[in-house]
Amino acid sequence: MSSTVVPQGVRHNFDPDALREKYRAERDKRIRADGNDQYVEVTGDFSHYVDDPHATPGFTREALVQKVEVVIIGGGFGGMLAAARLREAGITDFMLIEKGGGFGGTWYWNRYPGASCDIEAYVYLPLLEETGFVPRQKYTNADETLEYCEVLAQRYRLREQALLQTQVKSVSWQESSRRWQVKTDRGDQLQARFIIHSNGPLNRPKLPGIKGIDQFKGHTFHTSRWDYAYTGGTSFGELTNLEDKRVAIIGTGATAVQCVPHLAASAKALYVFQRTPSSIDVRNNQPTDPDWISAQRAGWQKRRQTNFESIMSGLPVKEDLVGDGWTEAFRNLFGGLGDSMPSKARLAWWAIQGAFSSKRRERGLKQYLTDKAVQHMGLPQKMEMADFEKMEKVRARADALVSDKSTAESLKPYYRQFCKRPCFHDEYLQSFNRDNVTLIDTHGQGVEAFTEKGVLFDGEEYEVDCIIFATGFEVGTDYSRRAGYSIEGVNGLTVTEKWQDGMATFHGLHARGFPNSFFFGPIQSGFTAAFTYALDENSIHAAYIIDQLRQRGATRVEASAKAESDWVKTVIQKARLTEDFQKSCTPGYYNNEGHVQFQPQNTFYGGGPMEFFELMAKWRGKGKLDGLELQLSTYE
Ligand code: NDP
Repeated sequence: MSSTVVPQGVRHNFDPDALREKYRAERDKRIRADGNDQYVEVTGDFSHYVDDPHATPGFTREALVQKVEVVIIGGGFGGMLAAARLREAGITDFMLIEKGGGFGGTWYWNRYPGASCDIEAYVYLPLLEETGFVPRQKYTNADETLEYCEVLAQRYRLREQALLQTQVKSVSWQESSRRWQVKTDRGDQLQARFIIHSNGPLNRPKLPGIKGIDQFKGHTFHTSRWDYAYTGGTSFGELTNLEDKRVAIIGTGATAVQCVPHLAASAKALYVFQRTPSSIDVRNNQPTDPDWISAQRAGWQKRRQTNFESIMSGLPVKEDLVGDGWTEAFRNLFGGLGDSMPSKARLAWWAIQGAFSSKRRERGLKQYLTDKAVQHMGLPQKMEMADFEKMEKVRARADALVSDKSTAESLKPYYRQFCKRPCFHDEYLQSFNRDNVTLIDTHGQGVEAFTEKGVLFDGEEYEVDCIIFATGFEVGTDYSRRAGYSIEGVNGLTVTEKWQDGMATFHGLHARGFPNSFFFGPIQSGFTAAFTYALDENSIHAAYIIDQLRQRGATRVEASAKAESDWVKTVIQKARLTEDFQKSCTPGYYNNEGHVQFQPQNTFYGGGPMEFFELMAKWRGKGKLDGLELQLSTYE
């Protein structure tokens, strides 16, 4: 390995050109013509993959036909936060509809062994100060997260206003009554004045469309519907029924990384089929220090969340309150904490992000662009070097923890850290030291076929009793398909038609043609690493608007055509510069499986989440509901 002098004059123990070439080769061998079409939809013969293993079987109830002020679709954190913020605003006539048998959304479904949140609990779990709940450890597990969802449900009295085990089938706008008609699979017909769509960006499991997937005669399931009846055990592991079972797991993303150690500990034999290795950094989970938590002053959670998201957005902060793998990775990219971070580097990062809307940043950008010294600094190169350095450490970790050299080599990720979801785990890599665990490195090609008896790769048939799909969730498919219900707005316009050539919203929340609706999603909105933070901001915003409309006697609200097109322009202007990075990445759901058909309007608000939330707060502060068209009439 050569030692190369990089622009900032630091000597590194790697060869950047060789790494660039390796990254390119690893990406190229994974690009496939079928992109997103390589996956099969979980419908028809595959629909059992989305059956609810946790709900009470045989549940029935009377269909509900009634008027309601707000229907919230989704009982995950987004839906719960929406309900909480509505209640706080004095809007109590809402109904929450959730297809699962309980609250929690992604956490209701993803209870696989080892399921845990990668973002620290003090940031991730919303409303901790309001509920007084103290997470037992820094990174909460599935069990505690679900327990907390129940705490929220009780605190905000959600159960009495929820239709659980109920799937929305269609929502359609009725101009005559200025209401949404919501129909469900239980025959409910609700006439809702407002509707909040909080159906989760990663809610629909996907399966690899591989030859023979319907031929396998053994047991199969997707990680998001873990079959404990088959494996035994709980989300803490102890999968005792697997003692005499040979198990294959397909996929090595963030989910597999968390459940593989438990499968490894329990199964007679475990075959891990890897297409692309994840980057696995240190987890270092810790119990919550009671002295630390009791010493926190009022407002601590908001300060901590803001601090975390600011670091994740490259904004200057004086200290890193969270101090974990996420913040370290971002500080590494941006060159340190705010005060020590070179201001020019910061300005350049904002320039890369397109985040130069404020006067301060505009001035900074001009200065940056005219400053010859900075031009020589080559910030993108500096960031690339920091990324190489980080990933070298991640690769070295595989060497340090995995005894078999060739297996360690296979587990090394060769791409930039944020091409895929970074993972943090202290037991995953060591699982491959066990005699009962075999890594099948498919060298980027994936599994070849399934047979009646097992999995085929490179001419070898791996006979197993059970195949577990850790193959992730649909991203980038049609909105209605992912949501699981049709949405018909004014004059029967569907969201599919509306967004067929790209997203068009106002603030990511409103879409013209769909009055009285709020779409909770990250596109054209502020995207946070701790997604609950963005969901809460959306909830606060939606509750404010609904409250304002009621105060003003408006029964219909719709984004104006101008507001929507101006917002799309803003999103495009700020998003422009991420395309090259995405193209350089290994395929995955972050970059449309490598087919970067870059539609800049289909991205998050590029100025960063903190800037977005600031913008929303200012918009509310003006109290004018700018960009929204209101129609007044008597509330009945
Ligand atoms: P991912 O989409 O991240 O991973 C799917 C895996 O399946 C990848 O390793 C993929 O390989 C592999 N795969 C797909 N097709 C094949 C095939 N034909 N043969 C072999 N392998 C295949 O899904 P996950 O469920 O792991 O994670 C989804 C998201 O959920 C994460 O990105 C994260 O946002 C969230 N999550 C969050 C957690 C948290 O802590 N908060 C924990 C777990 C998940 P390839 O990479 O080559 O495409």
